[in-house]
Amino acid sequence: MSKRILIVEDEAGLRLTLADRLHAEGYDVETACDGETGHQRATEAEFDLLLLDVMLPRMSGFEVCRRLRQKGSITPVLMLSARGADDYVTKPFEFAELLARIEALMRRSAMQAAAAASSSASSVAQVFRFGTVEVHFERTEVLRDGQPVALSAREFHLLRYLIEHRGRTIPRDQLLTEVWGYVAGIPTRTLDVHLVWLRQKLEANPKAPRHFVTVRGLGYKFVE
Ligand code: CA
Repeated sequence: MSKRILIVEDEAGLRLTLADRLHAEGYDVETACDGETGHQRATEAEFDLLLLDVMLPRMSGFEVCRRLRQKGSITPVLMLSARGADDYVTKPFEFAELLARIEALMRRSAMQAAAAASSSASSVAQVFRFGTVEVHFERTEVLRDGQPVALSAREFHLLRYLIEHRGRTIPRDQLLTEVWGYVAGIPTRTLDVHLVWLRQKLEANPKAPRHFVTVRGLGYKFVE
């Protein structure tokens, strides 16, 4: 079975070129030329990956992505920034890079699905403790000194990902892809902001974090 890709791009030339080239690589490709239609197709049908332009008529690529995530969609999304997208048409090297990203995203999402299946199979009430913090994964609840801490869904997802990969330096790109679900063209400052929030909520001294450690130039590491 061919993997299915939905391309949402309003520029006709780029849309056709990408569709042709991805089809030539063996993908089953569908296209939409505005955000609203793209969002509708992504809701109606199953895709293995969405290729979303950022600047789109009727609904931006970011908004399409946000709405799909809100509905619980876990389909990997690769955003095309306007700057990058213009290059893909003319430079074969850029297409190769795009293809590499598509393949990496699909691999990662297949691994995630496998991990999710195995963790739900051995579903037990999981509690993780560090410092005076208790993380209840099943109840998606966090306590600090016995008191509930309000975390956004994204903060909880980030916290869980860091804990699951504790002791290891996780590159920024990986965190953005795994926790936010997309790469390229996204201001990565959003990751730093979320880390600051987690520290403020869960560290005894947020200015000198013990658990949520910055690894300069690389990414972040969670330490017990
Ligand atoms: Ca566009």
